[in-house]
Amino acid sequence: MQHSRTPCRSWGLLLALALVAGGGAPAPAFDGERAYRDLVELVRIGPRPAGSPGAAAARELIGERLRQAGWRVDEHPLRVEVDGQGIDMTNLIGVMPGERPGLVLIGTHYDTKRLPGFVGANDGASGVAVLLELARTLGDAPRPYTVWLVFFDGEEALGAGITANDGLFGSRALARQMQREGDLEKIRGFLLVDMVGDRDLGLTEDVGSTPALRQALVEEAARLGLEDVLGGGSVALIDDHTPFQALGVEPVLALIDFRFGGDSMPGPLWHTTGDDLSAVSAESLNSVGRLLVEVLRRVERETVAREGVEGAR
Ligand SMILES: [Zn+2]
Repeated sequence: MQHSRTPCRSWGLLLALALVAGGGAPAPAFDGERAYRDLVELVRIGPRPAGSPGAAAARELIGERLRQAGWRVDEHPLRVEVDGQGIDMTNLIGVMPGERPGLVLIGTHYDTKRLPGFVGANDGASGVAVLLELARTLGDAPRPYTVWLVFFDGEEALGAGITANDGLFGSRALARQMQREGDLEKIRGFLLVDMVGDRDLGLTEDVGSTPALRQALVEEAARLGLEDVLGGGSVALIDDHTPFQALGVEPVLALIDFRFGGDSMPGPLWHTTGDDLSAVSAESLNSVGRLLVEVLRRVERETVAREGVEGAR
């Protein structure tokens, strides 16, 4: 995960607008403590860089949890060649069929940065833990649209940072595959979750995300009394949503705290061995999970309303 360009906007105006919004159904019970237990299990595996035994163990845990929650699990293997080095990677997708055509993708990455002793409690495990708890929260009742919980491999660059051909390997591969097969048009929304466990949570406004979904996030945060988790500044973030956006997918929303362990970006703990259990909290997972559930429901509701009108014309 990294950022591009310079900060140029803040949550402030959006928050002011949100105060006039309201209503809607109560959130299902997303359990941050239960999510945290999966985070701990992932961290106990140790380092989980793409192609490692740790990544394979993480995959096993993810698949098991999804199946326990009643979700189908698809594996999408890919092989990446960088500087003569071949790495086998695998995207995992939890699938819950929907009532009508169309897909909502909710993504995160499960690989960790290849650094000695790096266990990625926040950068790697937090997004996975939130998506696994989301699977349990949503359960096995069909949604309006098919939901894919996508666990991307190879988000982290092999070199220092993400470039045009390093990092985002899993998401670039899935985006290209969906483009080839004509499936990108089926996407009704793409929500990306990464680095959401920071015990001092402050989600960063991704100025590249779709304005309507940024606004929806602010409104839902106000409705849930979670305004204080949106204090992470503004910047254009590069993560696994970026390859999909580059191919025209929208709406897109990234939920990322890119001030990890401090007030600077990316923060003093980012890609350091300080990214361990002492840096994250169940409460942060709970806040993001509750927000994610509400934003998902909103995407579903608003898309159903729009497509219903279009269908009637
Ligand atoms: Zn990272």
